[in-house]
Amino acid sequence: MGKVYLTGAGPGDIELLTLKALKVIKRADVIVYDRLANPEILKEAKDGCEFVYVGKADSHHSLPQDEINELLYQLAQKHEVVVRLKGGDPLVFGRGGEEALYLKERGVKFEFIPGITSAIAVPEYAGIPVTHRGITVSFRVVTGHEAPYKKRSQIPWENFKTDDTIVFLMGLHNLDKITKKLIEVGKPKDFPIAVISKGTTPEEKTVIGTLEDIYERAKDLPTPALIVVGEVVKLHEELNWFER
Ligand code: SAH
Repeated sequence: MGKVYLTGAGPGDIELLTLKALKVIKRADVIVYDRLANPEILKEAKDGCEFVYVGKADSHHSLPQDEINELLYQLAQKHEVVVRLKGGDPLVFGRGGEEALYLKERGVKFEFIPGITSAIAVPEYAGIPVTHRGITVSFRVVTGHEAPYKKRSQIPWENFKTDDTIVFLMGLHNLDKITKKLIEVGKPKDFPIAVISKGTTPEEKTVIGTLEDIYERAKDLPTPALIVVGEVVKLHEELNWFER
């Protein structure tokens, strides 16, 4: 029986793959990958490696999660090295924990290989540090997939009055609702916000605005995209090194 490596592919730029991930990709007998994992990475695999696309995008799955779990289990019966390649880090909204539990319950060995998460690296390529001395001492990474006006929202909106930098993943389609909610809980209308599309790739694009006007400015950007809310967004003007 084989082993499943729940592996982070990094945020887009292929050079942000870790050495550990690259090593296991070169040894892989089969690679199960997502939409967000840069497909260029697959060229590093050995001859005869099998590729299985499970096309998960923004948590609208083309293959349901329970079927992915079962697929990994089945592949581990037939192959020695099974790589489950996910965009960013496998445990940051990556459902890698669920896959690991499913495998463990069935006696299949697994390993996590961390990846560079888009939540930090994408703002970084846009010249937005998630923490910055004198501006903010902490940051949060929040799902933007859960609609803010859902009756029993698990997101502590009331806490977002703080100076924390807030990074929303999977939130572009809820941008209008998210910004309205932040204003409702007390953030100023002119508070800085950025939307970064296709971060760390040649098509990266950053749009800067305020809670009031960002929706109109950024709503048509292509995905994947993430949202950064915080005073640190203002540093983009000075530190934007990659898109220049
Ligand atoms: N495990 C991943 C996140 C999965 S959730 C990680 O650690 O990065 C998917 C969300 O991540 C997308 O909806 C988007 O908000 C964000 N994302 C991933 N790659 C991105 C990129 N290159 N540019 C902008 N946002 C990205």
